[in-house]
Amino acid sequence: MEKYCCDKFQFRYSGEKTMGLNIRIIGYGKSFQERAQLNIDRNFIITEGYAGKIEDCAKKAIINFCPFCGTNLRAFYKDMSYIQEIME
Ligand SMILES: [Zn+2]
Repeated sequence: MEKYCCDKFQFRYSGEKTMGLNIRIIGYGKSFQERAQLNIDRNFIITEGYAGKIEDCAKKAIINFCPFCGTNLRAFYKDMSYIQEIME
Protein backbone atom coordinates (compact mmCIF):
# COMPACT_ATOMS: atom_id res chain seq x y z
CA MET A 1 0.00 0.00 0.00
CA GLU A 2 1.36 3.39 -1.01
CA LYS A 3 1.74 6.14 1.53
CA TYR A 4 1.08 9.81 0.95
CA CYS A 5 2.28 12.94 2.71
CA CYS A 6 -1.35 14.11 3.13
CA ASP A 7 -4.90 13.39 1.95
CA LYS A 8 -4.98 16.40 -0.35
CA PHE A 9 -1.84 15.27 -2.18
CA GLN A 10 -3.30 11.77 -2.52
CA PHE A 11 -6.52 13.19 -3.96
CA ARG A 12 -4.69 15.29 -6.58
CA TYR A 13 -2.21 12.52 -7.41
CA SER A 14 -4.74 9.70 -7.65
CA GLY A 15 -7.45 11.52 -9.57
CA GLU A 16 -8.05 11.28 -13.31
CA LYS A 17 -5.22 13.20 -15.02
CA THR A 18 -7.58 14.93 -17.44
CA MET A 19 -9.55 16.54 -14.63
CA GLY A 20 -8.83 19.81 -12.89
CA LEU A 21 -5.61 20.53 -11.05
CA ASN A 22 -3.59 17.42 -10.61
CA ILE A 23 -0.17 16.36 -9.41
CA ARG A 24 1.86 13.92 -11.47
CA ILE A 25 5.12 12.15 -10.72
CA ILE A 26 7.04 11.88 -13.98
CA GLY A 27 10.10 9.71 -14.45
CA TYR A 28 12.91 10.54 -16.87
CA GLY A 29 14.45 7.74 -18.89
CA LYS A 30 18.19 7.70 -19.57
CA SER A 31 17.93 9.16 -23.08
CA PHE A 32 15.75 12.00 -21.82
CA GLN A 33 18.17 12.73 -18.98
CA GLU A 34 21.04 12.92 -21.47
CA ARG A 35 19.18 15.16 -23.93
CA ALA A 36 17.99 17.50 -21.21
CA GLN A 37 21.30 17.25 -19.33
CA LEU A 38 19.55 16.33 -16.13
CA ASN A 39 21.00 14.34 -13.28
CA ILE A 40 17.61 13.66 -11.73
CA ASP A 41 15.38 10.74 -12.64
CA ARG A 42 11.94 12.24 -11.90
CA ASN A 43 10.03 15.37 -11.18
CA PHE A 44 6.85 16.42 -9.44
CA ILE A 45 4.55 18.39 -11.64
CA ILE A 46 1.31 20.21 -11.00
CA THR A 47 -0.86 20.47 -14.10
CA GLU A 48 -4.19 21.73 -15.27
CA GLY A 49 -5.12 18.31 -16.56
CA TYR A 50 -4.31 16.74 -19.92
CA ALA A 51 -4.98 13.84 -22.22
CA GLY A 52 -2.12 11.89 -23.79
CA LYS A 53 1.40 12.57 -22.61
CA ILE A 54 2.73 15.12 -20.15
CA GLU A 55 4.41 16.89 -23.09
CA ASP A 56 0.91 17.63 -24.42
CA CYS A 57 -0.02 19.57 -21.30
CA ALA A 58 0.52 23.29 -21.92
CA LYS A 59 0.08 24.45 -18.34
CA LYS A 60 2.37 22.81 -15.86
CA ALA A 61 4.88 23.68 -13.17
CA ILE A 62 7.53 21.66 -11.36
CA ILE A 63 7.09 21.62 -7.61
CA ASN A 64 9.55 20.49 -4.95
CA PHE A 65 7.32 20.66 -1.90
CA CYS A 66 3.75 19.54 -1.31
CA PRO A 67 1.56 22.65 -1.80
CA PHE A 68 -0.76 21.42 0.96
CA CYS A 69 1.50 20.25 3.78
CA GLY A 70 5.01 21.38 2.81
CA THR A 71 6.61 17.94 2.64
CA ASN A 72 9.81 17.66 0.58
CA LEU A 73 8.47 15.53 -2.29
CA ARG A 74 11.77 14.11 -3.54
CA ALA A 75 12.62 12.91 -0.06
CA PHE A 76 9.19 11.44 0.63
CA TYR A 77 8.29 9.80 -2.70
CA LYS A 78 11.51 7.88 -3.28
CA ASP A 79 9.99 4.63 -4.44
CA MET A 80 9.89 4.13 -8.21
CA SER A 81 6.37 2.73 -7.91
CA TYR A 82 5.01 6.27 -7.52
CA ILE A 83 6.11 7.19 -11.04
CA GLN A 84 3.07 7.49 -13.31
CA GLU A 85 4.67 8.27 -16.64
CA ILE A 86 8.18 8.10 -18.08
CA MET A 87 9.64 10.55 -20.57
CA GLU A 88 12.11 8.85 -22.89
ZN1 LIG B 1 1.26 16.81 1.43
